[in-house]
Amino acid sequence: MSKAVVSDILTDIRSRPLPPLGGFAPFSAVDYPGYLCAVIYTQGCPCRCHYCHNPHLQHGRGHSELSWPAVMNWLATRRGLLDAVAFCGGEPTAHKSLPAVLQQVRNLGFSVALHTSGIYPYNFSNMLPYTDWVGFDIKAPLARYADVTGVPGSGIRVQNSVECMLSGNVAYEIRTTVHPAILDASDLVTIARWLKLLGISNWVLQSFNPAGCVNADLVTSYAPIDHELLDKLREHVPNILVR
Ligand code: SF4
Repeated sequence: MSKAVVSDILTDIRSRPLPPLGGFAPFSAVDYPGYLCAVIYTQGCPCRCHYCHNPHLQHGRGHSELSWPAVMNWLATRRGLLDAVAFCGGEPTAHKSLPAVLQQVRNLGFSVALHTSGIYPYNFSNMLPYTDWVGFDIKAPLARYADVTGVPGSGIRVQNSVECMLSGNVAYEIRTTVHPAILDASDLVTIARWLKLLGISNWVLQSFNPAGCVNADLVTSYAPIDHELLDKLREHVPNILVR
């Protein structure tokens, strides 16, 4: 890629109002399975999940001094060294302007991974054409969604997003964070039934991560999922990975 092309990409990025940046990690081997990637964190998320380990990224404006041109300029120097760029939050799909960034990241030659709660179905649908892989959180059974996210009506929004994703051909991972004080056994079985109805046969159960969590009760009351329950869940979703 010529310097002129990179310069055009930077000019385009400078000319747009873009999402507030919350952080940047130059290297990750875990945010896009099988790929080495940089991670861009956008600032802002409407949810207030009790187990959130990035609460500093929830509010609309953060304190990051990063700039999009600086990040894109750095990425241009990593072509051939990294495979991809992963977008995390916060909630990346909260930002209508993100598709332009995804497009330019692809123009630089990287694949794009998008981590989302699916809470903005319209914005999410506009990002899918520029996305190679989605890490999609299913946080609760439909009827209990607002209990976990704190956002009324979030369940139906997530249902719309997941259906939109499944109707396309983007690669994805469905994952659920497990903590017994947030989701009990019957909640997990209800989610497993929902995934089966959607035709999903792979599911990642993420152990609660205490790092950064500001809810002390959750940190002290965590217990891992037991094998009997896992067997029950596999009756509905055969391929479950616990990590
Ligand atoms: S959706 Fe993610 S970033 Fe937002 S509050 Fe929940 S865990 Fe935190």
